[in-house]
Amino acid sequence: MACAYTPFPEASATTRDTMSDIVFDHIIVGAGTAGCLLANRLSADRSKRVLLIEAGRKDDYHWIHIPVGYLYCIGNPRTDWLYQTEPSAGLNGRTLRYPRGKTLGGSSSINGMIYMRGQAQDYERWAEVTGDAAWRWDQVLPDFKRHEDHYKLDAGAPPVSEAFAALHGSRVPPTTQEKRINGMNGGEWRVEKQRLRWDVLDDFAKAAQQAGIPATDDFNGGDNEGVSYFEVNQRKGWRWNTAKAFLRPTCYGRPNFEMWTSAQVSRLLLEGTDNGQRCTGVEVWTGTEMTRAILKPGGELSLCAGSVGSPQILQLSGIGPGELLRRHGIAVQRELPGVGANLQDHLQIRSVYKIRPPKGAQSTLNTLAASNWGRMKMGLQFALQRRGPMSMAPSQLGAFTRSDPDQPSANIQYHVQPLSLDAFGEPLHRFDAFTASVCNLKPTSRGTVEIRSNKFEDAPQIAPNYLSTPEDRQVAAQSLRVTRRIVGQSALARWQPEEFKPGAQYTSDEDLARLAGDIATTIFHPVGTTRMGRDDDEMAVLDSHLRVRGVAGLRVVDAGAMPFITSGNTNSPTLMMAEKAASWIRAGQ
Ligand SMILES: Cc1cc2nc3c(=O)[nH]c(=O)nc-3n(C[C@H](O)[C@H](O)[C@H](O)COP(=O)(O)OP(=O)(O)OC[C@H]3O[C@@H](n4cnc5c(N)ncnc54)[C@H](O)[C@@H]3O)c2cc1C
Repeated sequence: MACAYTPFPEASATTRDTMSDIVFDHIIVGAGTAGCLLANRLSADRSKRVLLIEAGRKDDYHWIHIPVGYLYCIGNPRTDWLYQTEPSAGLNGRTLRYPRGKTLGGSSSINGMIYMRGQAQDYERWAEVTGDAAWRWDQVLPDFKRHEDHYKLDAGAPPVSEAFAALHGSRVPPTTQEKRINGMNGGEWRVEKQRLRWDVLDDFAKAAQQAGIPATDDFNGGDNEGVSYFEVNQRKGWRWNTAKAFLRPTCYGRPNFEMWTSAQVSRLLLEGTDNGQRCTGVEVWTGTEMTRAILKPGGELSLCAGSVGSPQILQLSGIGPGELLRRHGIAVQRELPGVGANLQDHLQIRSVYKIRPPKGAQSTLNTLAASNWGRMKMGLQFALQRRGPMSMAPSQLGAFTRSDPDQPSANIQYHVQPLSLDAFGEPLHRFDAFTASVCNLKPTSRGTVEIRSNKFEDAPQIAPNYLSTPEDRQVAAQSLRVTRRIVGQSALARWQPEEFKPGAQYTSDEDLARLAGDIATTIFHPVGTTRMGRDDDEMAVLDSHLRVRGVAGLRVVDAGAMPFITSGNTNSPTLMMAEKAASWIRAGQ
């Protein structure tokens, strides 16, 4: 049974016999990326009782912390919800595994660790669609910096430019000079340089430059066009998830903070008011019994269950599209047609190139991991130095560019990997190869998340509808051509790359879009299923402060709130949103 949880001997989180004998000022559902940060910020006020509820278990599983362990966390019921998408016509009828983290830290415990903010213009668009300047780039930048701990600003690190210092945060107390430039300390979210490089990726970066993509040393200044190794959320070679960053040791030491793990919220408790509804708490399944957590009058509940979990909980509680709720015999408490609509995701199209490593150059992970000696060497490197392939994020090299010169800004992203496989969960190929995965950063296809029944135990139906618009199919074909242009440059010639997937014989737009459907898969960035928007936007679920329309005492603070997907990986943008929400909640706004 889930219980009030005292994770470390020194922690003083309250324990009691039953979980529902006190009420809370703040209840947070989901201890994932957003939930952990929110729990930290809200429990900093010792006069407020804060409860954090997580369906998954503690993050005390070794593969969560060893970076390469994402391979063993995805598809593992210990850490993953094990969702599967509905068949997509754009994927030629295929369904995909749809991993979502189910443990403390949520998806930040199983993700690729890439630190990426997106583009300034993403947030300008959010401000426009919500009518709220708080989402403009210059207004979100302080929220990114507030929790950032960037290695380039460490004490003793080589000096950085004023421009860089103005864009980034650090835990190191700033000098007066830095304060003037940077304005504030950073926080808990560690950003580090990767601890390994690969010869073939170095040459891919050179080839990208030959193809016109400039080198960059910072993807996070607002315009990410360029090529470089990604920076990652790691500390000294270990994964840095949001549970380590925001719960340990701070929250665990606070007497006003309580956490329930292995506790799945089944629905919200609502009561009628003169103006609509008010959230009064939640019903929670502990594995053996159904219990409740109750809000104090004037208290607030934040749903941080992610782009799949939050719309599911809302729909099970009678908040969502009326027709869907009635179909499943759920009384409509508040009709909001946008709950579960507007699903957006980045679809990665994975071109694989067989290569012949030149004399003296490193081979790829495929062949390294195939030999006992190679595996032993990797194990030793990690054990002794926290370096080598076991410290590796799934993708090391990144590039942002345009699928055609008429695009106003970078609209595709590369994740380049010194490995290849048929699909995640399948073994690595036995031959040397690299994968140049490319995704459309601004897809126009939209999907849905809908409950399958009125039972909370049933996984919802996830239908991303990938490649369902002509624009997305066009960008898919163009981006495969950009990949070929890069790989065809002289910097890669010494590797003798040979296109294994999709196959060099296919050249027409039609063929390339169809083949993209065969080799593409999610890059795990579902957003938008409870999006914010203006008052007159009937598909908006939230107002611009992330409050659920027509339901007092309830916000959704997670990736589902994004109106448009960001142009890059979505973890740190979600943290930024949680930072903003925390300040609004604390200020009663
Ligand atoms: C495999 C993978 C790789 C990725 N790689 C990257 C990357 O390299 N960089 C990057 O920036 N982004 C990456 N992402 C995306 C990023 O991790 C997510 O966008 C981000 O974590 C979303 O945060 P969230 O708070 O919305 O949801 P989550 O972090 O998923 O948190 C939701 C939490 O709610 C819990 N929950 C759900 N339902 C319930 C319920 N009913 N009751 C109680 N608890 C519940 C879940 O168990 C989970 O802990 C990746 C994601 C995945 C899955």
